[in-house]
Amino acid sequence: MAKCKMTYNKIQCSFCGRTSNEVTSLIEGPNNIFICDLCVENSNQIISKNKKTSIAKSIGVLDGTMLKPSEIKKRLDEYVIGQDYAKQVISVAVYNHYKRISSGKSENEFADVEIEKSNILLLGPTGTGKTLLARTLAKILKVPFAIADATTITEAGYVGDDVETVLLNLLQNADYDPDLAQFGIIYIDELDKIGRKSESTSITRDVSGEGVQQALLKMLEGTRAGIPPKGGRKHPEQPLIYVDTKNILFICGGAFEGIEKLIAQRMRSASIGFTAESDDALEDSLELLKHAEPDDLMKFGFIPELVGRLPVFAPLEQLTDESMTNIMLEPKNAIVKQYKKLLSIDNVELEFETEAISAIVEKAKDRKTGARALRSITEEIMLKIMYELPDNKQVVKCIISEDVVRNSAEPILKNRKSKKAKSA
Ligand code: ADP
Repeated sequence: MAKCKMTYNKIQCSFCGRTSNEVTSLIEGPNNIFICDLCVENSNQIISKNKKTSIAKSIGVLDGTMLKPSEIKKRLDEYVIGQDYAKQVISVAVYNHYKRISSGKSENEFADVEIEKSNILLLGPTGTGKTLLARTLAKILKVPFAIADATTITEAGYVGDDVETVLLNLLQNADYDPDLAQFGIIYIDELDKIGRKSESTSITRDVSGEGVQQALLKMLEGTRAGIPPKGGRKHPEQPLIYVDTKNILFICGGAFEGIEKLIAQRMRSASIGFTAESDDALEDSLELLKHAEPDDLMKFGFIPELVGRLPVFAPLEQLTDESMTNIMLEPKNAIVKQYKKLLSIDNVELEFETEAISAIVEKAKDRKTGARALRSITEEIMLKIMYELPDNKQVVKCIISEDVVRNSAEPILKNRKSKKAKSA
């Protein structure tokens, strides 16, 4: 075991040559090798710098191999159906975000120009892919990711999560490495629910007031927060891990129900640039959301400073029947693919008839929770089948027909051909 040697003047640090009376400690290694405290500190700094560089390298921000916006969108397409406009906006914002981080010290004519952070606000109905987009982005970029619900964040001192809990989640997903966490993405869901005008009935939690918005603002602006690694309240003896939120990309999401009306009102009352022909646009929710402006968010109850920190608006549209069908079938981890894989482990081929998929989509639309209902409806259908199939070793194929979805009929099962039948 290495130990400190401070008694003999002749002992030197094997790295810098300083003698024991020039340093505070000399630590002994094997074969008469020593290292002084100054060299340990220097090494730590080099390791930390290299770690940051290697994280930046893995995202490609240093060597220009970072995914370009069109490549980011292409990768998002593998997991998220439709929402092309939102994907484009996000791809550009993310590309710029990581360029901003990498452009620390340029020596050209733009040396004094500071690129502002491009935190993103996703606006759109529930179950249309907001969380999925944020989660997929983190996966593509290989950076740590955390989700928080704006309604559970409270002003410091109230019962509930505070911003440090959110950062702790990110830190945990970064294996407690603050350097890695600083490159991460945090998704804050249900932002619309903390607009000032929504009434809070709770007396123990301030979930709707300006206080929460202020707390969020601090995190979005960039703060160096001390996080107790085990969570819970801070106390003086507890060691803290410091996370700087300056480079964390924040993506906020919310349905912002009713904001279309505010946008339409503003556009109708604005006399310039809006004519009778474009009135059609007022009927189209996506078109309206594309015109969202900071003013509309302020009318929705948000403090201007917070709106100012969310400069990129990415609207999502209601999913069409076709998109819902594609969600069932196409993404890399599409619901149908997942069940097919599950049954294949029991050597059973699973088939969904086209009409069965349409019936599932129709049922899901009735629930008005976007694509979210697709999974739960399919799960309901598959539960009985997945319970019974492992007991029946003869089955090689299971077909889900429309009747199974609409009338809870039994699926069509095909049995293994008996040896006799095979040879016939
Ligand atoms: P929200 O917009 O409410 O955040 P989510 O992203 O959580 O919605 O979507 C819920 C689930 O619905 C996802 O886990 C995913 O399976 C599915 N889903 C929603 N929208 C899409 C989409 N555009 N493409 C693929 N799957 C989607």
